Amino acid sequence: MKTQIAPVRTSTQRADAIEAAVYLLTGGYPVALPTETVYGLAAWALNPEAVLRIFQVKERPKFDPLIVHLPNQDWLNNLCVIHDEDLDLVQSLVARFWPGPLTLVLPRNKIVPDLVTAGLPTVAVRMSAEPVFKEVIEGFGQPLAAPSANRFGRISPTTAAHVYEELNERIHLIVDDGPCEYGVESTIVMPTKGKLWILRDGPVTRAQLSEFGEVETQHRKKMPHGPGQLKSHYAPRARLTLLKHDEAPLPAGKGPVGLLAWCSAPQAKGFAHVEILSRTGNYQEAASTLFAKLRILDSMGMNRIIAESVSEEGLGIAIMDRLRKASGNG
Ligand code: AMP
Ligand code: MG
Repeated sequence: MKTQIAPVRTSTQRADAIEAAVYLLTGGYPVALPTETVYGLAAWALNPEAVLRIFQVKERPKFDPLIVHLPNQDWLNNLCVIHDEDLDLVQSLVARFWPGPLTLVLPRNKIVPDLVTAGLPTVAVRMSAEPVFKEVIEGFGQPLAAPSANRFGRISPTTAAHVYEELNERIHLIVDDGPCEYGVESTIVMPTKGKLWILRDGPVTRAQLSEFGEVETQHRKKMPHGPGQLKSHYAPRARLTLLKHDEAPLPAGKGPVGLLAWCSAPQAKGFAHVEILSRTGNYQEAASTLFAKLRILDSMGMNRIIAESVSEEGLGIAIMDRLRKASGNG
């Protein structure tokens, strides 16, 4: 199958791309769509055949549950059963962070196919603020399961070109709305009994969430399986070594060694290629270009990547989480 990349620069292109996306989704086919976090591979969440196609295209194991995007907040009550004791907390989080990069894990309703939740009693839901995504899902009028549009275990795509690299000839359509705003996957939280269990760090920070309740970290052993929680995920081809804070980068190892530096690279001698996350030390910029820079280092044939640590505050927590996962030690 030929994969088309549909731009949305003019109003005609935009209308055509949205119409084509809705047409394919209605037929049960997955479509790659931009979101504010990373590009998603979207399909009709309530149609098990459509959902199965996501797993096939991504070569994703069935034990890994998908995040479901909602066309509007009313769908929350169709897909989830929110306990009375959690209602206020859920409503406050939704009012503050939706649409946006926050995924909530909540008890599920029966209409959600088992395949979506990997048989779990909960479902992960969110609402994207990306304008083209919003128009597509509102036009479609049904929830969309949309994991990142990459093959299983690979780095999430943050541009349409990355999606093409990953899924060329596997899907019909990639809607191209330029690079993603945040560049790292959504924050995943399970709100329960006044506590906020963090299942994955992301653009909505722990500090922001702590205004709504006690923030707790769900440890991996107790968590359902899923690559968001596997030790090695979001991995480049090259072996990535994450330096300790203030450890000097040395181009050790066989073959070309690349450096992924934080904001400057005075000690970059001997590295075959250097990428800097943010020259001004800006976390937002660093997060939004992190995956693209890992892809560049991979495409330049680095055998090893040495990555500097960043401070674990605010968005730095999500950046360090992805770097640890890229090093196979998440
Ligand atoms: P993504 O690949 O970005 O769509 O993220 C999917 C990840 O969300 C999975 O790998 C899980 O880590 C997490 N997830 C989805 N559904 C659930 C759920 N019901 N309970 C816990 N985690 C979930
Ligand atoms: Mg993913």
